[in-house]
Amino acid sequence: MDLQQFLTIKDLMNFQYCPRIVYFERVLKIPQATTIKELKGRELHSLFNKKSKRNKIIKEFPKLPKKYGVYLESNELNLRTVLDCMIINQDKKEAFPIEYKYSKKPRKLYNSQKIQVFAECLLINRLFGYSTPFAFIKFEQSNELVKIKISNSDIAKVKETIKGINEIIVTEIMPKPTTFSKRCKDCCYVKLCRRI
Ligand code: SF4
Repeated sequence: MDLQQFLTIKDLMNFQYCPRIVYFERVLKIPQATTIKELKGRELHSLFNKKSKRNKIIKEFPKLPKKYGVYLESNELNLRTVLDCMIINQDKKEAFPIEYKYSKKPRKLYNSQKIQVFAECLLINRLFGYSTPFAFIKFEQSNELVKIKISNSDIAKVKETIKGINEIIVTEIMPKPTTFSKRCKDCCYVKLCRRI
């Protein structure tokens, strides 16, 4: 049992993808392999920063200040992350996270993509006291910007996810595999899972 270590938003995304990944990584301490796609995505974050400073990627708020690479850490939630970009409306005490993805926009947003921005909104609210009515995801390859309305149930989902992850870490009981077997194809733990 090791609840001292901060959770990251990657843990929350992993849990949404398949809770068993959290078990392998956080309980058995077998690190997840970094995919080529992830490496490429990291490289392109700096490109995103430059581009977005040049162009007004959120045309809705042309004059509002943006902060890049915002480090967010909450002891209360035991959660930390680095936010790609945050737009701040000081007058209304509102902030909007922008997440950058080096991919095309999927037909429907994945739960893992949604939990990421929901968690960013929760952290912004807890740490700065701003309300977060919307979040944005910019998809580089299809050059699309998605605006996501944030509800209380979205924020509750983040808290449930953190609870689910903590349960795995505390009990050390291996959770059931994902019901979407297609996800196993690209998973670095597939050989381990087949042996169980
Ligand atoms: S191989 Fe499948 S069941 Fe196993 S951890 Fe990966 S996604 Fe989950």
